[in-house]
Amino acid sequence: MLKFAISLSYLILYVGAVHAQQYVPGEVIVKLKSESGSSDSYAFLGKAHSDKEMALKESWGKMKMYHFALKKGQTVEQAVADLKKDPNVLYAEPNYIFSKTTEQVGMHETFSAEQIQTASVSAQNYQATGANIGVQTVWTSTSGMPAVKPVVAVIDTGLDTTHYVFQDSQAIWTNDDEIPGNGIDDDGNGYVDDRHGWNFVDNSPTMYDDDGHGTHVSGIILSIDQNIYATPLRESRIKIMPLKFLNGNGVGTTSNAIRAIYYAVNNGATVLNNSWGGTSYSAALHEAVAFTYNSKAIFVAAAGNSGMNNDSTPMYPASYDVPNVISILATTDYDYKASFSNFGAQTVDLGSPGVFILSTVPNDAFGTSSGTSMAAPFVAGTAAQIKVEAPTMLGYQMKTILKQQYTAVSQLNGQVETSGRLNSGLAVNFAKTAAIDTNQPGYTVNYSADRDLASNVAGGGGCGTVRALAEKTPPWGGAGAVVVLLLAPIVVLVIMRLRAPANRRKHERFKIHSDVRLMVGDKEMVGSISSISLGGVQVNTSALMQDGGLVTMAIASPDGSERIEVSGRVVWSEANKAYGVQFAQTPQSVLSRIADWTRGLQKVS
Ligand code: CA
Repeated sequence: MLKFAISLSYLILYVGAVHAQQYVPGEVIVKLKSESGSSDSYAFLGKAHSDKEMALKESWGKMKMYHFALKKGQTVEQAVADLKKDPNVLYAEPNYIFSKTTEQVGMHETFSAEQIQTASVSAQNYQATGANIGVQTVWTSTSGMPAVKPVVAVIDTGLDTTHYVFQDSQAIWTNDDEIPGNGIDDDGNGYVDDRHGWNFVDNSPTMYDDDGHGTHVSGIILSIDQNIYATPLRESRIKIMPLKFLNGNGVGTTSNAIRAIYYAVNNGATVLNNSWGGTSYSAALHEAVAFTYNSKAIFVAAAGNSGMNNDSTPMYPASYDVPNVISILATTDYDYKASFSNFGAQTVDLGSPGVFILSTVPNDAFGTSSGTSMAAPFVAGTAAQIKVEAPTMLGYQMKTILKQQYTAVSQLNGQVETSGRLNSGLAVNFAKTAAIDTNQPGYTVNYSADRDLASNVAGGGGCGTVRALAEKTPPWGGAGAVVVLLLAPIVVLVIMRLRAPANRRKHERFKIHSDVRLMVGDKEMVGSISSISLGGVQVNTSALMQDGGLVTMAIASPDGSERIEVSGRVVWSEANKAYGVQFAQTPQSVLSRIADWTRGLQKVS
């Protein structure tokens, strides 16, 4: 009941913010044609200040780019339209909003450090995902500690740097040129006391992860280096640079994303993990990504979680055609595309595990979460280990290796360009003896200067998931879209608690987490099972199922070693994400398998 009360209060809080925009109200990003410091640029800035009452928030001089706050009362639409008419302006655009790319359910389950180190759950996770992608080959690699540890920038919600996994492995990046806490920007990089990264949300050196997402992503990156579920941990071969630009709700702005990307590259990161995205095209962000390419880094990006085809509905930054961007689809432990994952035979590169991934969460704990957010960091972690083996390798070649040394999976035909899933062991081993290619193709940003605001807005919310939800919510339209994303899991929680579960159950029900393949008619889908009894299961899937509909399921055992096939009927559904399926005509052999599986599992209270 207490939990219910908390959920409801959050609900009210978010409803209050329903008029939030998919871009920041009252802000624009402008790129000039003239060089910074030229008379034309001064003329423009002077006019913007005095005539338009625009306040300069930040400038990226080398890029000829400026971030302004508008005069009070002026709309972004009007300002962008006016600015585009200015002969000095190359482009003007809103400050778009982006979201993390985890599934809406967020964290599935959490565990303490003690549970992880004693329970079989960590072993299961290793069996399910680690073995698939060959992490043990990387862990036991004979290569020693690199002279210079590759730095992976985690552009995300922050990081609990005090978590013992990162502390014991000494995995947190340190800016050696900055003296902490002296209130001085010792290294002159524009950030005061940025000893271990930066928080772009509140402009501070504290990256505390008020969401949990960035800590989870960072643990996945480190899990390619070593077994993070066991103790003792050894010194890490890589460094993680936490750059917080997503707030506690997992939402961030283009301007802060750009700042984080420039910070990452300018401070030595060669691998950038981007488990976030949105459907609005930003020329400014496009240029920032191109800058990472010209700086020889690799830019790993989550493909998005709306189950859509990125070939026709691009997701940014994953869909920028910059040659060092590698766009990642999420797979299940059985190498199917996760039902929520975006795909794209032309624009998504590679599959990687992204369902029920166990990793670090704040306060020395662990948790499972799903999303392309979880799939991308396996690739980023592998790229970092490639860099351990081949310190001078360019990001472009790292991407090429990742796209050539993988596991072919027929189920991914037509879903990703490679028809393959990440194989960390193969890719890192290959890099040990690969000839270093110092060339990379040239790239120029070919943004559409005329791409207008209206077409971007019509494209829907800040993120693919949001868009799908917004389409079902006409009164809010695109404008409330980002908030809808935040709202959705809360609504589900509330509905679940309002409905009395007692009348659903005749059998004892157990908590379980295993994946399921679903056949409805001739359509095959994937999902997960969150509880099971001798009478039925609770299925979580992005696929739509009808109440009363027949479904055939291939349910994996908790350890993934076997599957049972069983048919049933959908008897209840909640917000189209969770379904109750009652078994029909269950053979005794199946019932006894379920009885075996559930022995010792926790009962659903
Ligand atoms: Ca500094």
